[in-house]
Amino acid sequence: MVNLDIARIFDEIASILEIKGENPFRIRAYRRAARTIETLTQDLKVIAERGGVSELKKIPGIGEGIAKKIVEIAQTGDCKKHRELKQEVPAGMLELLKIPGVGPKTIAKLHEELGITNIEELEAAAKAHKLGVIPGLGRKVEENILKGIEQYRRYQGRVLLSKALPYAESIVKELKKLDAVERITIAGSLRRMRETIGDIDILVVSKRPSEVMDAFTSLEGVEDVIAKGDTKSSIVLKGMDVDLRVVESASFGAAVHYFTGSKHHNIRIRELGVKRGLKINEYGIFRGEERIGGENEEDVFKSVGLAYIPPELREDRGEVEAAKENRIPKLIELSDLRGDLHVHTKWSDGKNSIEEMAKTAIALGYEYIAVADHSPAVGIAGGMNEDKLRMRQQEIERVNATFDNFRVLSSTEVDIKSDFSLDFPDEILKELDVVVAAVHSKFTQDKDTMTKRIITAMENPHVDIIAHPTGRVLGKREPYEVDMERLMEVAHDTGTVMELNSFPERLDLNDVHCRMAKDYGVPIAISTDAHDAMQMRDVIKYGVATARRGWLEAKDVVNTRGLEEMMKMLKDRR
Ligand SMILES: [Zn+2]
Ligand SMILES: [Zn+2]
Repeated sequence: MVNLDIARIFDEIASILEIKGENPFRIRAYRRAARTIETLTQDLKVIAERGGVSELKKIPGIGEGIAKKIVEIAQTGDCKKHRELKQEVPAGMLELLKIPGVGPKTIAKLHEELGITNIEELEAAAKAHKLGVIPGLGRKVEENILKGIEQYRRYQGRVLLSKALPYAESIVKELKKLDAVERITIAGSLRRMRETIGDIDILVVSKRPSEVMDAFTSLEGVEDVIAKGDTKSSIVLKGMDVDLRVVESASFGAAVHYFTGSKHHNIRIRELGVKRGLKINEYGIFRGEERIGGENEEDVFKSVGLAYIPPELREDRGEVEAAKENRIPKLIELSDLRGDLHVHTKWSDGKNSIEEMAKTAIALGYEYIAVADHSPAVGIAGGMNEDKLRMRQQEIERVNATFDNFRVLSSTEVDIKSDFSLDFPDEILKELDVVVAAVHSKFTQDKDTMTKRIITAMENPHVDIIAHPTGRVLGKREPYEVDMERLMEVAHDTGTVMELNSFPERLDLNDVHCRMAKDYGVPIAISTDAHDAMQMRDVIKYGVATARRGWLEAKDVVNTRGLEEMMKMLKDRR
């Protein structure tokens, strides 16, 4: 049980109570606790074991009742109240919660008015236009629900990289403790760092496979054991399918290559093998009956005359040709980054002060951060007006005076409004060190309009970076329509930097767009858009992974530069 699992339980309790129309204060208490727990930096289980209810209650937002439940979950891995509540509503109604745009209140209403208890019934009712007449819902909601159902189905069975990776890493860490495990690695789309993951694949070398399988199928948090054998076992953990294969030492590299994929990449490699009279499969590299290699993954590439190809590139997007000609790029690494050009602080909707963000950045080895608090139009996110912006400037200067080799850059995430105007006048923008501009409203404008809207921002001489350029939120919001090639052309001509937003739900630009930017010679800023210090630390790796999938090298990314050199790449300073 990690903090996120506990938060998920409290969220679900809150949703069920809301569906049942119960006391709003209790509902709010559970929600508040879930939000607190999500961003907590210490392990709740450790706190519960050490200090029990009394210590848990010291955490803001955690009362007596919830503290007791945390202790129960820490001890038993389960919560009785949660179990009981789940039995009080049909399982199909809980699944409705996963549809983007459908909340507990809507579910309660749909149940009351139309007796809807699952997705199929909801879809049928929406298609028959039965929702439009319900007070408080209307035609628009009906349309959105149908869209939401479609999206939900598309992502069903896939989870975000940020969910799969930590669990996979903790499984590997647990199994590594066994003497019976000689070698172990993550394979599959997770090793290629795709933005969503179907299932987790893990490969092990062991001479005592049954010991490994016993440990695997009894890992903490296992919800179901689908299969258990000596060479392969499958479990369900946190709703994800996890497959573990035990292979011979002599086959390990070939198996890792085979199970890392992608399928299309593997086909290309096999074809190259055939041309050289080799058979390449999950068991090794064979000439006739004789195994000539396969213990290490490098063997596979060497056997067909290729340079090593990093897993993130194995999508059959030209990597085989590049490896043949020794043109595999030296992909960017986490340690190349020297700053973060998009973070939020308490001055808008962030949780930490400027100083706290700066100290975390210093601990990460950064030389600068740009505090890009929202502009007034994003009122819901605590956008700053001009007075607030001026007050913040004083604090930035005060904080900067305390550091020698670190700089807080004054910035804003200025809203690109639907009428193409920016949410701060030029006189204000020109005073800032870095200007990040982004679309946060009217996502439904047509492609031409949206493209012009962003181009107008790019043409402003003070706008340095376009943040999350397609606006997508994985599983929740589709990207808005925009002509990306046109944006790249204009970015190149105007010297505008494009952001790769590292938030796991965004990863925007995506891998393909990153590569497009590189082709157009448009520099990228890999930013976190962190709303607290821990996010700044934790989500950046997903941005770097996406950049690597987009073939980016350190030189393609502005924030791999030291402060002075980075600033020279921004518009005003060139
Ligand atoms: Zn934003
Ligand atoms: Zn932001």
